[in-house]
Amino acid sequence: MELFFLGTGSGVPSKERNVSSLVLRLLEKSGRTWVFDCGEATQHQILSTSIRPRRIEKIFITHLHGDHIYGLPGLLSSRSFQGGETPVTLYGPTGIKDYVETSLKISGTRLKYQLYIEEIEEGFLFEDDAYHVEAIKLNHGLESFGYIIKEKDKLGELLPSRLSELGIEPGPVYQKIKDQEKTTLDNGQVILRKEVIGPPKKGKRVAILGDTRYMPGLKEKLANVDVLVHEATFASEEEEMAHDYFHSTVRQAAQLAKEANAKELVLTHISSRYQGESIKQLEREAAAIFKETTIAFDFYQHHIK
Ligand SMILES: [Zn+2]
Ligand SMILES: [Zn+2]
Repeated sequence: MELFFLGTGSGVPSKERNVSSLVLRLLEKSGRTWVFDCGEATQHQILSTSIRPRRIEKIFITHLHGDHIYGLPGLLSSRSFQGGETPVTLYGPTGIKDYVETSLKISGTRLKYQLYIEEIEEGFLFEDDAYHVEAIKLNHGLESFGYIIKEKDKLGELLPSRLSELGIEPGPVYQKIKDQEKTTLDNGQVILRKEVIGPPKKGKRVAILGDTRYMPGLKEKLANVDVLVHEATFASEEEEMAHDYFHSTVRQAAQLAKEANAKELVLTHISSRYQGESIKQLEREAAAIFKETTIAFDFYQHHIK
């Protein structure tokens, strides 16, 4: 899985950082693409990347502040112009349906693909054969959600030494043995997959949170995530301001990552007051608490290890 940060600023766009948007690319199935938030000009940002709007299959909105949704009608509409024909499901807080349907209706926009809109509540959202997604409630003045994406455990690798002990030479039969629980070979020999396969590969867990005050109580829900994407609108010394504006500081985000025993933390939604040297200062503040921290910037790509 790969994260592409398209917009990493807070509130209003600046020359350095556009407003919020983030893409999660699920590598194993030919570039399934999920978008998290869609601030103004997200589609312009996409133009500078290898992301293909027609590959977008799901869009998750954390909350309805303008810096997270003003790019949505444009992106949906352009996807149609660019030949996107497969359905898209949009998840977001109550009000997202009204916003999108009204924007499309009054601009006379007719999409050539099916758009499903689901207004969500906290808890389970959906699962398919490879992923499970749930929403958690945050604290941001107006309803705001975080999304926890869990990749299901995957089959282990075939063990060539075991197969060769059974007298099976490498070839197309390997794939057959991996694809089914029990394979009967041409010579009548029966191979049980569980006897020739290594341990399952643990699926990754990624948490992408919307804007929020520091919520220490989230540490259980976020326990052991591989990557936590958390907002850090302010420097550590601005705790009072962060509280007043329903945002978090760098230190608070790092503290949550540490308490949740996350493997990595990526900070985004950075106020435009921090640039150049002061970004380095934010990095130092975070690293003092949680070493594996990265401060995202526009077009930053994060490979989930
Ligand atoms: Zn915001
Ligand atoms: Zn907000």
